[in-house]
Amino acid sequence: MARILMEASSDSAEILFGDTITALHQDAHGVDVTFEKAAPRRFDLVVGADGLHSTTRRLAFGPEERFVEHMGLYVATLPLNAPADSPTDVVIHNAPGRMASIHPVHGQALAALIFRHPGIPDFRPRDLDQHKEALADTYRDDGWRVPELLDRARATDDLWFDSVSRVRIDRWSDGRITLLGDAASSVSLFGDGSTLAMAGARTLADELAATPTDHRSALARYEARHRTLVDPRQNNVASAAALMVPATSAGIALRNTASRLWPLAAAGTRLRRAMAPRKPPLGAAR
Ligand SMILES: Cc1cc2nc3c(=O)[nH]c(=O)nc-3n(C[C@H](O)[C@H](O)[C@H](O)COP(=O)(O)OP(=O)(O)OC[C@H]3O[C@@H](n4cnc5c(N)ncnc54)[C@H](O)[C@@H]3O)c2cc1C
Repeated sequence: MARILMEASSDSAEILFGDTITALHQDAHGVDVTFEKAAPRRFDLVVGADGLHSTTRRLAFGPEERFVEHMGLYVATLPLNAPADSPTDVVIHNAPGRMASIHPVHGQALAALIFRHPGIPDFRPRDLDQHKEALADTYRDDGWRVPELLDRARATDDLWFDSVSRVRIDRWSDGRITLLGDAASSVSLFGDGSTLAMAGARTLADELAATPTDHRSALARYEARHRTLVDPRQNNVASAAALMVPATSAGIALRNTASRLWPLAAAGTRLRRAMAPRKPPLGAAR
């Protein structure tokens, strides 16, 4: 998707890699942006699409702790650099409060580890050593392929680890600065965040195009429209966590029993539909 977006925008957008904004100062006519490496520039509008730990949000709205709520879970992923055993099947191993899984991604195996934790003290989203230590500590007693996954996690630099978090912020825009995607409204990993981020970008573009000389009303309409999609998805975490990372052995047993019954329930629904008397189409002769 990143490649598609790059190709679609390369003629119309200037892209700076390996840099970050360090300060934002706006007045009625524009925003002065200071970068870590590039020279300062002035823009009509700043859109912070820089994810859960958004720098734009911190600079324009305040510290992360005010808006980012840890949902009691951490997630890690690491590529196993080996072909997946199955093109479709995800294999999950649970212990109370912990899940280890192997997913097929374009034919390659990807490990995902999700575990319950009230909050790692002084958690640093970019501190790989801290993340490896947390995984080793949490999964040290687990069997299945977990010891192998821990060895791989220990040896790799390609480990992604973060808190599962929800972002809630009263308003997404301040003057000429606005937020998009996870920066504005992370719904955590259980809520279709990529899909919503793309939909939000489209709504933002539509509304800016509708009133190009009135950014205030465009940004207000963007937020009002897109919140109707995002807000209902922000409450999915508890039910998804109960399903994927049950907290107790009894919870794991219940989930396993329920998941064995799902195919039966689905087959029953299909059978009922197939056997139900068909209504004649509207306007059909009797
Ligand atoms: C394990 C996992 C699985 C998921 N699975 C799904 C799924 O199946 N379907 C789905 O729809 N969603 C899924 N999500 C959620 C999805 O990944 C996010 O909601 C989505 O990536 C948000 O997009 P974004 O562009 O807002 O932020 P991000 O994808 O986080 O992108 C932000 C970008 O900004 C860059 N950046 C950060 N800080 C700066 C800075 N200071 N300066 C410049 N650049 C910066 C980052 O490098 C990054 O490229 C999943 C999330 C996780 C953690």
